[in-house]
Amino acid sequence: MAENFIEQFIEDDLAAGKISAIQTRFPPEPNGYLHIGHAKSMFINFGTAEKYNGKCNLFFDDTNPSKEKTEFVDAIKRDILWLGYKWEKEVYASDFFDTIYAYAEKLIEDGKAFVCDLSPEEIKETRGTLTEPGKESPYRNRTVEENLKLFREMRAGNYADGEKCLRAKIDMASPNVNLRDPVIYRILHATHHRTGDKWCIYPMYDYAHPICDYLQGVTHSLCTLEFEDHRPLYDWVGINLGFSPKPRQIEFARLNLTNLVMSKRYLKKLVEEGSVHGWDDPRMPTLAGLRNRGIPAEAIKDFCRRAGVTKAQSECEIGYFEAVVRDYLNLHAPRAMAVVDPLKLTITNYEGEEDTDFEINQLLDDAGTRKIKFGREIYIERSDFSLDPPPKYHRLKLGGYCRLKSAYIIRADEAVTDEEGNVTEVKCTYFPESRSGNDTSGIKAKGVLHWVNVKTCVDAEVRQYDHLLRDADYSGQDFSERINLDSEHIFHAKAEPYLAEAEKGTAFQLMRTGYYKTAEEDGKLILSEIVSLKDNFNK
Ligand code: ATP
Ligand code: MG
Repeated sequence: MAENFIEQFIEDDLAAGKISAIQTRFPPEPNGYLHIGHAKSMFINFGTAEKYNGKCNLFFDDTNPSKEKTEFVDAIKRDILWLGYKWEKEVYASDFFDTIYAYAEKLIEDGKAFVCDLSPEEIKETRGTLTEPGKESPYRNRTVEENLKLFREMRAGNYADGEKCLRAKIDMASPNVNLRDPVIYRILHATHHRTGDKWCIYPMYDYAHPICDYLQGVTHSLCTLEFEDHRPLYDWVGINLGFSPKPRQIEFARLNLTNLVMSKRYLKKLVEEGSVHGWDDPRMPTLAGLRNRGIPAEAIKDFCRRAGVTKAQSECEIGYFEAVVRDYLNLHAPRAMAVVDPLKLTITNYEGEEDTDFEINQLLDDAGTRKIKFGREIYIERSDFSLDPPPKYHRLKLGGYCRLKSAYIIRADEAVTDEEGNVTEVKCTYFPESRSGNDTSGIKAKGVLHWVNVKTCVDAEVRQYDHLLRDADYSGQDFSERINLDSEHIFHAKAEPYLAEAEKGTAFQLMRTGYYKTAEEDGKLILSEIVSLKDNFNK
């Protein structure tokens, strides 16, 4: 059953017998890294093909040699595979340059394209506006012979960049500006990442894309809404080159997220200016960044599914994405303890050490428990103790009771302070009958605190992140004014040894702190924030 308007179109086309098998393509331009918006495009292109037992190609739209690089091709492939998608064929627009060129000669021979000598500026000036028609080029009525000769000379390298171009001959008075004799080939003396210096003319996207779709057997060309106004040109190319069956272009709304920049151009600027550590900085919305952050591929796909496929432009709250990630990790991540700002507790009536049972993930039936060493000296969060507590304070205060997670109930008896009045240590009493799982003490303790053992804990660096973009002060405020350079915060923490022993890259729920990924740098344990525990998404 169709779950969105794209699937409805496909089912209509299947029912009408227009097509028998579905072929889509995911069409990145290799001029940067993929971001979470592309994950949505992949979800739609790969997901739709899969649903209808069809195929999806990976199509590199490489018609713009000055910006494209093999480095980006490799990164794009790595990211697609990481998300768990498999393409049928790997195809490049440049694979088709000969055919695309031959089709241009055919358009010239049919009197449907002409070589124009106007400069790019003059073409822009004579294009007209939304309310006024454009002006016909003085070169519009060149003969077929002259056009062919000039076009071949363009290809041979007889002209400089911008000196001439090839334009489709459509209608300078069309209400759709895209149909006003659009440029379909330009001169560009640039080395291409795959074809080298073979070409010095390159086809424009709007002309090349429908041809590449057709040559790959694409049945449904799924793209974002900004191409809606280009669809008449897409169809013009298909009709005038006699494509049958002609691919059908369907547009959907882009994914936009608050507090994130999605434009490759802007992301590139952040990398080049050193505002972030690189394309895979954990604050970046690139798939490489999200992976490095520790966000599971499954959570990204789940988010795309839940966000849905629509034609209405909207901006999704970043909090919603984070809530989906949290839901996923809550079910999958093992629990552990680390203390970010440690305060020492000494349990004055405890001697020796013992193992306590710690639940790995209480939401999973078969996760089980592991042992944690309890001892006389432990660390808790400094913020979990107060000398001057507000009313209804459930954490530790002098004379108050708290449970240490998976261990015993304690009472705070005395706070040791330094000359400035800072608490440096808290002396406590524990209650032997209050052991977790076998509590016969009858003592009520509302607060449950996480802790680590002073003797066995390891040092760790905790990294926490704010969003790369601050909230906008007004709608449409430029990204550059919203960039939050102070978005990475580093703390020195104490962690259970278990975290250092676990495989690097594992995602944990650090109790009462958040979801963190482990890493190692220069022999040091790094705990890097994936998402906080606090749900600030306003449903
Ligand atoms: P950017 O503006 O970030 O550079 P782009 O559209 O130029 O993105 P492409 O490499 O051309 O990037 O994109 C490949 C495909 O992914 C295109 O079909 C494009 O429409 C789609 N896409 C890009 N950004 C988004 C987004 N935010 N939401 C959904 N689809 C997207
Ligand atoms: Mg693009």
